[in-house]
Amino acid sequence: MLYINGTIVTMNKKREIVKDGAILVEGSRIRKVGKTTDLVASHPKEPTYDLENKVVIPGLVDTHVHLAQALLRGSGDDCELIQWLCQTVWVLQGQMTAEEAYGSARLCIAEMLKSGTTCFLEAMCADRYGFDGIAKAVEESGIRGCLGKIVMDVGKYASQNAWSMHPGLVETREQSLLGVLEMHDKWHGKADNRIHVWFGARTPPGISVDLLKEMTQLSREHDIRITMHCAEVEADKVHYRENHDMTAGEFCQHVGLLGDKTVLVHMIWLDDPDFKLLAETGTHVSHNPSSNSKLASGVAPIPRLLEAGVNVSLGCDGGPSNNNYDMIMEMKLAALIHKAVSCNPVTMPAETILEMATINGAKAVGLEHEIGSLEANKKADFVVLDFESKLHTTPSPNPISTLVYCATGGEVETVVIDGRLVVERGELLTMDEEEIKREARRHADNLYERAGFRGKPKWPIV
Ligand SMILES: [Zn+2]
Repeated sequence: MLYINGTIVTMNKKREIVKDGAILVEGSRIRKVGKTTDLVASHPKEPTYDLENKVVIPGLVDTHVHLAQALLRGSGDDCELIQWLCQTVWVLQGQMTAEEAYGSARLCIAEMLKSGTTCFLEAMCADRYGFDGIAKAVEESGIRGCLGKIVMDVGKYASQNAWSMHPGLVETREQSLLGVLEMHDKWHGKADNRIHVWFGARTPPGISVDLLKEMTQLSREHDIRITMHCAEVEADKVHYRENHDMTAGEFCQHVGLLGDKTVLVHMIWLDDPDFKLLAETGTHVSHNPSSNSKLASGVAPIPRLLEAGVNVSLGCDGGPSNNNYDMIMEMKLAALIHKAVSCNPVTMPAETILEMATINGAKAVGLEHEIGSLEANKKADFVVLDFESKLHTTPSPNPISTLVYCATGGEVETVVIDGRLVVERGELLTMDEEEIKREARRHADNLYERAGFRGKPKWPIV
């Protein structure tokens, strides 16, 4: 198929934007990117698909997602992280059935696809969610999914003495660590290599030092990538200092976590030595500004991390902490928040933000040779955006500016993944959107009922 008449934001090494551009797709891969006139002339028999002068970007890569939290959307607003986790999120997640988790994954994936995300990294699939169902949801939808399955052995968080985890979420070493190996054998590389299986380590002390070391050893032996929440709240930093006399980065190095196969999430409460450690080891950082802002966790030192040479990508986190999975909205906050806290309007320009959401994300998940830019021989994963028919994106002299500062996921019109149309003119082709919404409402009602929990407005309902 020859996609013609688009403004192609390639994100190639020269960062070229091709006006009146075309993309030649053969099977799942891009064969050529160039001018429409040239490609039509050299491939006169190829069927064409008119992009109608719309803007085309590489598929967005969300490097921090909780699929099971889509069902928890709106359940934990305006409270701090520990209270949010212990009184709401874990209470609901700890009672979630595999059928509900499958429904939540479908809801989340459908939302991601329709807002331009073509690849995601799930941080922590609990055993109770049913890994097979989650993988099946990825397979059916057409999206690329890196699925981190929980590794843990302690039911605690952030402090050794308090904040015990909901019993429904506590897993043993055997169940969690060996479960990843089993699911890796079963699912890694499946669905035309769209499914990848990762270690999704719980935040220390939810995982012991011994288990962390065993996991990082297995990661090197079996070439399995790792993601972990780290230095998200000040209590994390206190934990590493008081129990190990180390900074967050030093602790990660001590247990073998640092390296280019690891994505550390949040990384707000860092100390001076951490920047160099992360950069030298090629460790990736996923920045989640909406979640960090909403939970008042702090503002991650992203400009300093980038300056140190760390690869930083972007993530939406979860339904109760964001409360959506829209990477385009996430881009805007990532661009604004660092300007506000540094009083520096030139920091984190729109171009840097789009790099974080595309090519940096591809690097973080180890797929920079396959996705993250629109170039010959890469996978055909791209997103078509409609800026012309909307008031809030008119005029659009610079598509990168419009994308980062004006647009939302609502401007996504068409999405291609692995050479296949998955969203076309706003319609999801691979899943039944109405059924997904109906099932999600039913599952949420049942789950909240069972948990004896009901999110409701604070103001009187009359
Ligand atoms: Zn998270």
